[in-house]
Order: sequence, then structure tokens, then C-alpha cells
Amino acid sequence: MTWGDGTRVVHSTPSAPGEPFLAGPVFASAYHLGGEDTYGRAHNPTWRALETALGGLDGGTAVLFPSGMAAISTFLRVVLKPGDVVMVPGDGYYLTRTLVAEMPVEVVEVPTAGPYPSFDGVRLVLLESPSNPGLDVCDIAALVEAAHAAGTLVAVDNTTATPLGQQPLLLGADAVVSSDTKAVAGHSDVLLGHVSTSDPALAERVRAARTTGGAIPGPFEAWLAHRGLGTLDLRLSRQAANAAALYDVLKAHPAVTGLRWPGAPEDPAHVVAAKQMRRFGGVLTFELADAGAVAAFLERSRLVFASTSFGGLHTSLDRRAQWGDPVPEGLVRLSAGCEDTADLVEDVLGAL
Ligand SMILES: *Cc1c(COP(=O)(O)O)cnc(C)c1O
Repeated sequence: MTWGDGTRVVHSTPSAPGEPFLAGPVFASAYHLGGEDTYGRAHNPTWRALETALGGLDGGTAVLFPSGMAAISTFLRVVLKPGDVVMVPGDGYYLTRTLVAEMPVEVVEVPTAGPYPSFDGVRLVLLESPSNPGLDVCDIAALVEAAHAAGTLVAVDNTTATPLGQQPLLLGADAVVSSDTKAVAGHSDVLLGHVSTSDPALAERVRAARTTGGAIPGPFEAWLAHRGLGTLDLRLSRQAANAAALYDVLKAHPAVTGLRWPGAPEDPAHVVAAKQMRRFGGVLTFELADAGAVAAFLERSRLVFASTSFGGLHTSLDRRAQWGDPVPEGLVRLSAGCEDTADLVEDVLGAL
């Protein structure tokens, strides 16, 4: 029998009799040579424990990084050569677009929902589904098939979905990149990221690039994220329940337009999302009239904090235009936290 999500995250690393359930962080720049660990930039047992856990959840081999962007930039540096063509989501995480724009490659931006042009001559397509902040989705398995037929690699930014929400490697993707700063670590106190792949040779190249490039996670951060991972199932369940309840009251509210949550049966993304996602998480997107309306909402709410991250215990809201996303002034991404549903619904309705 395969384990459910709660069991998988609690038992994501083996523990033997006489050992703690989760070993504490190992702080070492140098090791007494003789074992598998040589130097702190190359090896760390605390990273390895979390990599085992995340790789298991993703269905591949994970390589840990100190942030999502460190994971993405190292992965791109490994797979792209100067002059290559890379396809990225035009509505996806804005720093990924900034990053590729600064690289000596040719960039094609495509909206997550498509339509996708031919993959001929494209070295890598980076998908982001659901996309941040628009929460559009794309059919990962169908795009993988078309891309592979053209010899194109496929990577998926799985940050919004998390490994419990979606397993792109099992849908055929060559790699997953993730910001574990968000729901995976989940407590708004650590930055971390990872790359997963089912290709052991690619994993080895990414690992070697981390050692050479030197963008390595701190052991304490890795340990904190691992400690947080154990409650991912519980947190996502509460966040999704809160998102569903908020969706129901927001969709009926006259001050709200453009409401999106892939978990809602009436959402345009739901059919594709339901095909490839196992759960929908707690992130909603909607629009208020303008920046002033968002500020007034935040002023009146006691439970919704302005914050440019998501996936944490606290319900938070981010007006994306303030960071330069090409979206309307009043568009917000709301990340439902782990508060009691009734308290959150009452607070949000009161603030609206
Ligand atoms: C936050 C985020 C990133 C960047 O991750 P950091 O950990 O902040 O470096 C990348 N992709 C998506 C979709 C994100 O939400």
C-alpha cells in the first residue's frame, strides 16, 4: 500500500532505533576525512536528509539550494549554452524573466495558458503551473510530449503547487525547480529552494554546479525547512479549506472581480488543474478597484498581513503591481493561512 500525504511527510527520512526522528543540523566547514563528507561547500548530512525527503516526494533526485532563485539560476546555467533558445512563462515569477533576460540566450515568453508556439529549436521550456500570480495552468503532460518530440527539455516551477499538490516528474518533465521558501518550509522564517530530476546524470551536473558556484544552503535553514515539511499535509489542508471558504464569499462580493483559484470547479483552470494536481493549496488571486482599495482593505483587516511571500501560517496579501508585475493596480494574490476558517472569513468580509 502506498502511504498517504501525512505519513509521507512525517516519515520522509528514515530513522533507526537510538536515533532522533529528525537529526539536528550538522555545522561543519571541514570534516575529519575518512567518511563520505569532505568539505562544507560540497557535502552536508543535513542537506542530504532534506534532499532524500524532497526527492522522494517529487519522485526523483533533489539538490538543495539556498533560495528558489539559486535553484533556478544554477539549473539554467547547467542546461543552457550561449545562443540557446529558452521559453519562459510571460505571466510567471517575474525574477525568472529578469534572470533569463540577463543571460546570453534567446528568450521567448509565452503565457502559461498558451497558445504555445512550435518547440522546434528550443533548448528548454520552463513552465510554471499554477503560475504566480495569475494562477493559470497548462497541461504539463501534453506539453512535455510535444516538447520531447522536438528534442526540447521541460522544467516546471512547482512552487505554488508543492510536491504534495503536483508531481511534474511523473507527468514526464525533466526537472522541477521550487522555492521552498513558500509552503514547503511554510513558517515565513527561511529561504530555500531545490531542483529535482529523474535523470541521475543531470542531478549530478546540478550538484557539481552547486559545489563550483558556491550557492549552498545553510545547514540550519535546511533543518528548519525539514522540520516544517513534516506538517505540510496538515498546513495545505487547512489553507485549502480556508481558500475554498474565502472563494465562496469573495465570488459573491461586489468589490471583487477576476477571482481565481484552480480548486474551484467554475475556475477556467480547474479542468486541467484537476487532471494533474492532487490538491490545490491556499493561494487565490483577485482584483479590487485600485491600489487605494487594497490599502484600505489591509488597514481594516486584523488577520490579513501585507507580505510579498505566500504559503506560510499567516494569511497574507500582496499587491503585485507594486513589484512591477504587468497586472492591474488592484490585483492581489491572497495566501490563505492556517487560521480558523470562520475567523478568517469574518475578518475578510469585514475588511471588504
Ligand atoms: C518565490 C518564488 C521564486 C523565488 O524563490 P526564492 O526562494 O524567493 O528565491 C521562484 N518561483 C516562484 C513561482 C516563486 O513564487
